Amino acid sequence: MSKVQGLNKQFTEKDVNRMRNLIQGKHGEKVGQSVGYSKHDNVYKEGDIWEADGRKWTIKDGIKQNITKLDKAKKAHMMPIFCPNCGSKMHIDIDKPYYNIHKKCFNCVVEFEHHLKTSGLYEIYESKIINSEIDNWINEFKAYIESELCTTNNSFITEQGDVEKWVGAPNKNKVMEGLEKTIKHLNSFKR
Ligand SMILES: [Zn+2]
Repeated sequence: MSKVQGLNKQFTEKDVNRMRNLIQGKHGEKVGQSVGYSKHDNVYKEGDIWEADGRKWTIKDGIKQNITKLDKAKKAHMMPIFCPNCGSKMHIDIDKPYYNIHKKCFNCVVEFEHHLKTSGLYEIYESKIINSEIDNWINEFKAYIESELCTTNNSFITEQGDVEKWVGAPNKNKVMEGLEKTIKHLNSFKR
């Protein structure tokens, strides 16, 4: 289990940042104009929520994001009160990491893995878990990149709260190239 979580952490920090930098900074030409804050300009800062183009938006980590998307991501990581497998009450701190992957509580996972170990199937099981985690990551990445290509084009709020506009779209080919590289990198962790 700790192996899976270790991998997970490696992906989040390194690869997400890499893709983020790729999209935000390195490609697509930045114009340093802080937009004239005329009365018509709405200036939003981190955490603000507003409606535009019939959709709800917010600023998260300095990036304009579609809030429906964030809600969905949140829901995907919600945990029921009781373990779907044994029915006992689950605890956020202990059971959450296990629920995310196995859809059952820590105790159930331990019991299940014990069975596998005694029957000699554990190695196969472990590699399957790791590979499916990697696949999940790849899919999440693809979705993330695709949505970033659609939504972060028009404006970018800096940490200081300045609105910076970007000329042109991010270089889509470059981004896709980076995505391919990242996928290859992730796949190399498979067993
Ligand atoms: Zn359980």
